Amino acid sequence: MNIGDELNLELIRDNIDILKKLYDVIRIVDPVTKKVLMYDEGKLIEKGRSCFSKIGNEQICKNCISLRALKDNKTYMKLENSDDKSYLITVMPMELEDKTLIVELIKEVTDTLFYGHSFDGKGCTVNNIIQDMKQLTIKDSLTEIANRRFIDERLPIDMNICYKSKQPISIIMVDVDHFKNVNDQFGHVAGDEVLREFAYSLKSCIRNKRDWIGRYGGEEFLVCVPGAAAEAALVIAERMKTNIEKKNFVLNGENIKITASFGICTTSDKEITVEQFLKCADQKLYDAKNAGRNRIIL
Ligand code: GH3
Ligand code: MG
Ligand code: MG
Repeated sequence: MNIGDELNLELIRDNIDILKKLYDVIRIVDPVTKKVLMYDEGKLIEKGRSCFSKIGNEQICKNCISLRALKDNKTYMKLENSDDKSYLITVMPMELEDKTLIVELIKEVTDTLFYGHSFDGKGCTVNNIIQDMKQLTIKDSLTEIANRRFIDERLPIDMNICYKSKQPISIIMVDVDHFKNVNDQFGHVAGDEVLREFAYSLKSCIRNKRDWIGRYGGEEFLVCVPGAAAEAALVIAERMKTNIEKKNFVLNGENIKITASFGICTTSDKEITVEQFLKCADQKLYDAKNAGRNRIIL
């Protein structure tokens, strides 16, 4: 196939052996209807699946380059990342049966697409760079747990997943008690160390793979327990509270005790917004503080 050859079905058929070596999937797609088409005895017929069900989470791709290719009559390429895997996708417009359709060439490149320069001397894959960058953007640099950006992105997704599967979802807002005193007495650097250990303690109480924890801000943390009713979230909060109470934080050679307050909110009401959900947990936390701290309010 030469550059400049007009793309048609015969050309693809004649070169299919080469294309099959270069790509994992070769298919024709109508980007408007999102249907995958098959050429069968000189006729184009619709295959049952939607084009987006091959890659991603059964959702229409946010940045559909096939639609773009159709609109601009151009060839486009995209690197898609899904479930820790990378896919290189090339899309080309093609006239077929008085219609412009898109030929999509897809190749999984998780271990086979390299970045031009090697950071580690061994040669690094683009997939590793993407994973590292993802980690950097969602990790809190002090505590090494998820950061606020992750919370803002992940919480609405988990709320949606739970609503769709008719499951409850719980969040626990945690705040260190009298943390200002720690800073005042031992200094900011020691305060940072307490926050690191505090976050580690909370994280060690999470057992389920679906559950996650993030630093909401300052000395405040958010625990998300998708699929959990209030009682199940209470068990986790109690485990966290006990863990913190038992722990000795060593500051400047001195053993100090720390406590925390917890506010839990649970919902299965899809009308509740993320903001309202967070506000509810925040209010419970506020109640826990007002009631004397070192306690959980459900
Ligand atoms: P309360 O029990 O009501 O929560 O009292 P508190 O002292 O914990 O709360 P307050 O909001 O008065 O103070 C929070 C303190 O947390 C003040 C702020 O300097 C400190 N802080 C926030 N982020 C960090 C951080 O990253 N490192 C350190 N060392 N301190 C922090
Ligand atoms: Mg506090
Ligand atoms: Mg606070």
